[in-house]
Amino acid sequence: MAPFLPPRQKKSEKNRFFFKNALKFSILIALTALFWGAKAHWGFWAHKRINRLAVFRLPVEMQVFYKKYIDYLSENAVNPDKRRYAVVGEAERHFIDLDVYGDSAFKVLPKHWKAAVQKIGEDSLRKHGIVPWHVQIAAAQLTAAFREKNTFRILRISADLGHYIADAHVPLHTTRNYNGQFTGQDGIHGFWESRLPELFAEDYDMWLGPAIYRKDIGHDIWKAVESSHSAMDSVLLFEKQLTDGFKVDKKYSFELRNNVLIRMHSREFSEKYHRVLAGQVERRMRASVQMVGDIWYTCWVDAGQPDLGQLANAEPRHLEQNTEAAEPQNWLQRLLHVRPESDN
Ligand SMILES: [Zn+2]
Repeated sequence: MAPFLPPRQKKSEKNRFFFKNALKFSILIALTALFWGAKAHWGFWAHKRINRLAVFRLPVEMQVFYKKYIDYLSENAVNPDKRRYAVVGEAERHFIDLDVYGDSAFKVLPKHWKAAVQKIGEDSLRKHGIVPWHVQIAAAQLTAAFREKNTFRILRISADLGHYIADAHVPLHTTRNYNGQFTGQDGIHGFWESRLPELFAEDYDMWLGPAIYRKDIGHDIWKAVESSHSAMDSVLLFEKQLTDGFKVDKKYSFELRNNVLIRMHSREFSEKYHRVLAGQVERRMRASVQMVGDIWYTCWVDAGQPDLGQLANAEPRHLEQNTEAAEPQNWLQRLLHVRPESDN
């Protein structure tokens, strides 16, 4: 009797099987990347809050306009994160991997974009993140928008600029080890910038004085990045020390969010981390609000203090169109090159 042999699959069936699974796999990757993207950077809550609070620091001549659009500025504070996978050149505006440039990064890197491109090369700069330069570029764009008295550009760039400034204040936005992936601390990114503010921001003191004029935005944004970077060691070290003294089942807990059970850092672990950081997240968030208000104000002054009262009557429905049409979309090109910032 002939031994039993399974029927051989026809070649076309095999191909179909392969392509079907390859397609499923690509969709899975795309969805995973999207999920990461949606959770990236200062949590959405913190970004919205930072832009909102910055409005209250502005002089009355600006508040007449900014307060009218405060919801727009707050809601759209997260636009740059939403665009990260869709727009070429967006992803690198949110971070800078300073450790790539060695110990003397701050000496090696020119403060201004043109000089940096000449010295390092644009491709290399973009690969490792450009947040301190992009803040300067966006500030120049905002000044131009004020000069043009272009309501929609002023609002769109203000919202975006608030986002980039806030990202520059996050310690883990200044390192290659942005999610603790090289030190066995995966998930620390979202833990620091989303989970902690969500749990404790109610107690943060966000009372800040009026906006002040920044005579050298380039200098100040680099100083902000420098202090973010110097806070990075304690962000990682304290989490590691705490983890060593915690059982895994105590470190994490499950919470129901939008009817989905999600694993998060437990309240107990978060409280301990919050305590050892001794107000670090609060200080970085305060500094963000401070600089966002200051730079909006500085751009307005540099543009000759145009009368914003006149602009406050613009039709808000145009805002939607303007925001959507702002950048070209290029999904697939971005999808596979954009790094995730956070996975929890
Ligand atoms: Zn961001």
